[in-house]
Amino acid sequence: MSKAIASKEFVVKKMVELGAHPLKKWGQNFLIDETVSKDIVFALKIEPKNRVLEIGPGLGALSEHLAASDATITLLDIDPLFCDHLKKTFSSSPKLEVVQGDVMKFDLNPYDKIIGNLPYYLTTPILEKVLDHASHLSTFIGMVQKEVFPRVIAKLGDEEYGPLSILYSYVGQVSLVRKVSKVNFLPMPHVDSLVFKVDFRKDINPVFLKKLTSVTKNLFLLRRKTILNNLGGLVGGKEKAQVLMDKLKAEPQKRPEELPLSFYVSLTELLLLEKALG
Ligand code: SAM
Repeated sequence: MSKAIASKEFVVKKMVELGAHPLKKWGQNFLIDETVSKDIVFALKIEPKNRVLEIGPGLGALSEHLAASDATITLLDIDPLFCDHLKKTFSSSPKLEVVQGDVMKFDLNPYDKIIGNLPYYLTTPILEKVLDHASHLSTFIGMVQKEVFPRVIAKLGDEEYGPLSILYSYVGQVSLVRKVSKVNFLPMPHVDSLVFKVDFRKDINPVFLKKLTSVTKNLFLLRRKTILNNLGGLVGGKEKAQVLMDKLKAEPQKRPEELPLSFYVSLTELLLLEKALG
């Protein structure tokens, strides 16, 4: 019986066959545990109607389980060697396509589910890009270095609380799928990983989300300054900022990390309303 793609034997054999070496610059660490790859794909709860994007399929550790579904699947990897291998491997799957390209330049609009054992050098930009597309996504599953997760789930008062956790708490429910030890990868990275899932709300307005994202990120640009100061920079002066804070009954001397999601949501609503009223 042939070995699962997520196995040490397969990865070593295939890399030799392809004449390839794991490239650090593209974060190439391959999953070598079949149980882990099954758990990750199972958590996506794929249905035939889904359009699924896998970011960074590599040799196909997750892809082989995706390919077993009836959904429409796109495998996107930057490495042309892996894309050739994936095309051959999945040539008999009519609803699966392999695309060579950079996820940061790739259009995520056609997809409702995204999954990936993410290249670590791009984790935050990918998590931000996923957020920007939250209004048409139903599920995201990402494997990240375990240090990243607290920045996604941090609550008000936590050290890691910031735009990423505020925005992820707005777009849906974030949950831990499982932990993954570094020994489950080849080559072995320095740190352990974990897999988390986002179930997105279905009622996200893309215009609102875009504004909420820019307001939140802007107000956190200078973390140590008061919200009045930061808001002044955003709306064109402290006086205007003070009026907005009065309307929101918010304390102007607080710092961005001391304010809850509800503050950022109310402020965004107010700014959109004021714009609409001219
Ligand atoms: N999914 C495979 C696994 O679990 O064994 C490989 C995961 S490896 C951590 C990350 C993958 O992302 C690599 O295959 C790498 O080539 C790919 N990658 C790196 N940068 C990328 C980019 N900008 N766009 C798309 N794929 C990228």
